[in-house]
Amino acid sequence: MAKRDYYETLGVSKGASAADIKKAYRKLALKFHPDKNPDDASAEEKFKEAAEAYEVLSDDTKRQQYDRFGHDGMRGGPGGFGGGSMNMDDIFSQFGDIFGGAFGGGGGGGGRKRRMKGANLRIKVKLTLEEVADGVSKKVKVFKQVQAPGVEHADCTTCHGTGQVRRVTNTILGQMQTASTCNVCHGTGQSITRKPSGTDEMGMKREEAVVNLEIPAGVEDGMQLSVRGEGNGAPMGGVPGDLIVLVEVLPHEKFQRNGKNLHHDHYISFVDAALGSTAEVPLLGGKAKIKVDAGTQSGKIVRLRGKGLPAVDSYGNGDLLINLNVWTPKKLTKDETKALEDLRESANFQPEPDHGERGFFDKVRDMFS
Ligand SMILES: [Zn+2]
Repeated sequence: MAKRDYYETLGVSKGASAADIKKAYRKLALKFHPDKNPDDASAEEKFKEAAEAYEVLSDDTKRQQYDRFGHDGMRGGPGGFGGGSMNMDDIFSQFGDIFGGAFGGGGGGGGRKRRMKGANLRIKVKLTLEEVADGVSKKVKVFKQVQAPGVEHADCTTCHGTGQVRRVTNTILGQMQTASTCNVCHGTGQSITRKPSGTDEMGMKREEAVVNLEIPAGVEDGMQLSVRGEGNGAPMGGVPGDLIVLVEVLPHEKFQRNGKNLHHDHYISFVDAALGSTAEVPLLGGKAKIKVDAGTQSGKIVRLRGKGLPAVDSYGNGDLLINLNVWTPKKLTKDETKALEDLRESANFQPEPDHGERGFFDKVRDMFS
């Protein structure tokens, strides 16, 4: 079955604000909550679907990635970028933000423990155009918080490991039981009983880790990729954050990039332009010969189809556009001057622009098409 659009799932527009998204999700989560729909598989499906949509659309980075690449951008893939499907624990751990501490877990009763979540980390990777063309694996060093070995924990004595404190109050409607998050263990149900030296109060320490990034071909400058679970760890079996990778594409000495097309400025002599010739031009990772027609004007663009970059969000390569510039000599010998003087008044050497020919702006438009 085709996956539903996340915006459609939540019933919001593409431009919806964070507050609208949260509101829409809260409504759906209450409607399809397993406690309200016991043994209703389709409600559970909808509940999970809404949670997944919310998980992506409530996170700026993931939302951007989704807007750009759709569901494909969110799939694990070989690089491990993007999201995956959520389990019930993940969903209930969102609820702290959505409903505040008062809303317990549900499903199976007894409340749910909140799992701690590690912070996202951000790094920048610099890529050459050659790396962009082929895609690349890169090992990067990241300093992150990890749970130190030898940390021991036990059930929190305040909430007896449930992560929730229940209180019974008498009201005019009778006895009401309310549950709230235990503020001693922050809802995790666990407290640290032993930790090695050199760790913080949660038994965490900073460590250098090597993360392997699989960067897909065609990425662009400024793009962000997220590697799930490679951010800071979380104490007591919590969920690690993500590693957000900001892509920077380095300038190239021979090519300028425009989306998936590449541009290269190539100079030919005016003799070659007049008589016709062949020219050798660079490719990303190679060379090609192009034909220069007799009578070539400066500014002519030769398109080499498919010799640009792959597109990250669709199929097919861009083109390489060779901009032919006619080189005018800057100094001349006596003989050269004489030869040219003889040609100065020659009828064929008088400019005669063809007004039917495509002008500069048309060519620019072509390049961007
Ligand atoms: Zn507790």
